Amino acid sequence: MRIKKGDKVIVITGEYKGVEGEVLKSFPKANTVIVEKVNFMKKHQRPTQQNQEGGIFEIEAPIDVSNVKFVCPHCSAHANPKKKTLKDKTRTRYCPECEEIV
Ligand SMILES: [Zn+2]
Repeated sequence: MRIKKGDKVIVITGEYKGVEGEVLKSFPKANTVIVEKVNFMKKHQRPTQQNQEGGIFEIEAPIDVSNVKFVCPHCSAHANPKKKTLKDKTRTRYCPECEEIV
C-alpha cells in the first residue's frame, strides 16, 4: 500500500471530495485508511465506568484507499508517490512531481 499513517491525503470522490486530512490509520489488508475529519459515522456508546452517560459519538470510519490521493508535503501536488530502491538497497517513496523523498 502506498499510503501510510501520517501521510497527508485529499479525498477525490464522494461526499468528502476535496477534503484534505492526515491519515490516522491504515489497513493494508483491507486497502482502507482512516482520514482525519473524513467519513464520520455515528457510534452508539453504552454507558461505561468512565462515561456514565453513554450516548452517540461520531468517529471516522475507514474509506477505500482508491478514494484518496497523496498530497506531497514538498510541492503540494496531488500525486501518489512512486517507489524506488536507493543505492544502499533501502526502499523509498518519492513524489513524481518534485522527486523529493516522501
Ligand atoms: Zn512533490
